[in-house]
Amino acid sequence: MQEGKLIVFSAPSGSGKTTIVRHLLDQKELKLDFSISAASREPRPEEKDGVDYYFLDLKEFKRRIKDEEFLEWEEVYRDNFYGTLKSEVERIWASGKNVIFDIDVVGGLDIKKIYPERTLAVFVKPPSIEELKIRLKKRKTESDERINMRVAKASIELATAPQFDHIILNNKLDEALKEAHTLVADFVSPSKDTE
Ligand code: 5GP
Repeated sequence: MQEGKLIVFSAPSGSGKTTIVRHLLDQKELKLDFSISAASREPRPEEKDGVDYYFLDLKEFKRRIKDEEFLEWEEVYRDNFYGTLKSEVERIWASGKNVIFDIDVVGGLDIKKIYPERTLAVFVKPPSIEELKIRLKKRKTESDERINMRVAKASIELATAPQFDHIILNNKLDEALKEAHTLVADFVSPSKDTE
């Protein structure tokens, strides 16, 4: 099977990594396709099954773990399982594209461990924990309890940043987007030359 590259963007929830990943997906010359993760949580109102996530119930998620269908999986929050299906990476590689991931730090580092040479692992750092809290509140998608849970987790996640290939500080979004674009373009360009 044809194998492309893997681009991992990990960050605490609310750091802006999803915005960066969406921007990169619009840059057609990078030939990126988004790895749609499986998740056991309920969809948010604007989310669509098979677009944002493959939404599975807990029982189905656990069956797939047992059947070794995941490249990596994790219980990110209690009873909220997330994971990358092997079939998803195979689907994207088969189409001649590189895979881009928007996943949590543990999953991101797992992918880097599985494919050390083919993976560019980028950590997106929020300006501060306080700013992160403000952004999560503005988003209005989460209850106060869940925001606090995410903020508490963010401090632990920040400690893993040095294990990534690169850290992007998302202070000014336009600068973060430029930096991300340069990093990814440099990483995927060798495969362009061999076409
Ligand atoms: P959310 O519920 O906000 O969509 O995502 C919660 C967290 O789960 C985020 O940090 C997100 O990056 C992470 N996540 C999403 N997909 C995956 C995945 O496939 N594997 C892992 N390990 N984490 C994921």
